[in-house]
Amino acid sequence: MAAPLPLLSPSARGFRALPLPQRPSARQPIAPVLGRPPRVHLWHIGCQMNDADHEMLAERFAEIGCLPDAALDDADLAVLITCAVRQNAEQKVYGKFRELTEWKRERPGRAIAMTGCMAVEHGPALLGKLPDLDYLFDVRDPDGFLARLQAIHAADLDGPLPMPASDRLLAYISVMGGCNEMCTYCIVPFVRGRETSRPVGEIVEDVQRLVERGVREITLLGQNVNSYRDPGTGAGLPELLAAVDRVPGLWRLRFLTSHPRNAVPELFEAMRDLPTVCEQLHLPVQAGDDELLRRMRRLYTVDDYLEKIDTARATVPGLGLTTDIIVGFCGETDSEFLGTERLLRTVGYDVVHLQAYSVRPGTAAARRPDDVPLEEKKRRLNHLLELQRGIALERNRSLIGQSVEILVEGVTEDGRPYGRTRQGKTALLASGSALPGELREARVLSASAWQLSAATEAVAA
Ligand code: SAM
Ligand code: SF4
Repeated sequence: MAAPLPLLSPSARGFRALPLPQRPSARQPIAPVLGRPPRVHLWHIGCQMNDADHEMLAERFAEIGCLPDAALDDADLAVLITCAVRQNAEQKVYGKFRELTEWKRERPGRAIAMTGCMAVEHGPALLGKLPDLDYLFDVRDPDGFLARLQAIHAADLDGPLPMPASDRLLAYISVMGGCNEMCTYCIVPFVRGRETSRPVGEIVEDVQRLVERGVREITLLGQNVNSYRDPGTGAGLPELLAAVDRVPGLWRLRFLTSHPRNAVPELFEAMRDLPTVCEQLHLPVQAGDDELLRRMRRLYTVDDYLEKIDTARATVPGLGLTTDIIVGFCGETDSEFLGTERLLRTVGYDVVHLQAYSVRPGTAAARRPDDVPLEEKKRRLNHLLELQRGIALERNRSLIGQSVEILVEGVTEDGRPYGRTRQGKTALLASGSALPGELREARVLSASAWQLSAATEAVAA
């Protein structure tokens, strides 16, 4: 006889959820009694927020007695954590779903659930479009879905299961949900709602728990992470970084994604002064022309942005700087595009994430003509990719002969330990010279645009 079911803990995330409609009862999947805990396969695509949601759901499934993160072949339930930021991400989700319909037919009782941004964007229309979809739920508030799963599998569940042992060194933690910015091209505010920050104490507890399990590097996540505010005390991101920095056993701390508007000197000072906070700043600019930025509703000018970069670089020695750029936004002229090209040359980023503009239904920009032809978007994208390749190569070569700190994350197929520097650059070491989990000082021997090759010096920790 199964032990009493655990009570569902209140949502650990504290995000305000938009209500999602339930599938009509006539279409509920009928799951046979398995006689063992249901096995769940989690799959995600998209940004690091989805990576964090993947981990959060794995824990929630274990709490109710399901085996989280099963291999697909062994699984009873597949959960897709989706992305809606660009159309091609949605296409990938539909492709994965087609694979899963085959998987579902191979054995009766299997079920498919969908969550993440597409679940909110399309809502019940997905249930009509995908007859094999059994569950749809809002990842910010999975309690109702988990309770239904508990009810359906009451005879199979036997109390909470421990999370499987993990050898993870790196982990993401969502510190806030939503975004209040309303950039005209972006669907995130519609599918993730308004900004809601979690209390500092709760985040610190998450960090402690992960560090106890062996995690050494944490990345704090929010779509607009530098507008973080503790709901009780009003503490901002610099104070949150200081609180997390004090957790014993944590080696490295990063944060993503900062909005230029909220990139204040106090944040750069925290990066300079807190030992665990890495010298890496991801500061998406999106475009290098004031009129284009105005149409995107970014609420800063190119000069404002460059001033922030100057302050950041002057405050944080050896800062690694990365950005996001959209090419081919509505009405982007040749001269506006040249502004973006100029900005890339002026700033000299370490990495640039380039995307071609993709119309997102319901956004303000969707009401404007998407008038840069696809071929021209591709040409502009390739042009900037090539330009950035040269800039990155030059920046990486300037590190040759310098000493860098590397957290070894793994070993390549040909036996070379690899990891990342504090600036977030990938570095390869000589075979046999270091083990995963070690923090090593190494001298840079050579560099390509994408990675460094280095030789270890002394053991740092
Ligand atoms: N909050 C961050 C910011 O303000 O830059 C980024 C979050 S957004 C989910 C990640 C990136 O996706 C953006 O920086 C932007 O470059 C890109 N993106 C968002 N909407 C897009 C769209 N409609 N088309 C192409 N790229 C888009
Ligand atoms: Fe989207 Fe702009 Fe918010 Fe970033 S800041 S998530 S681009 S609306």
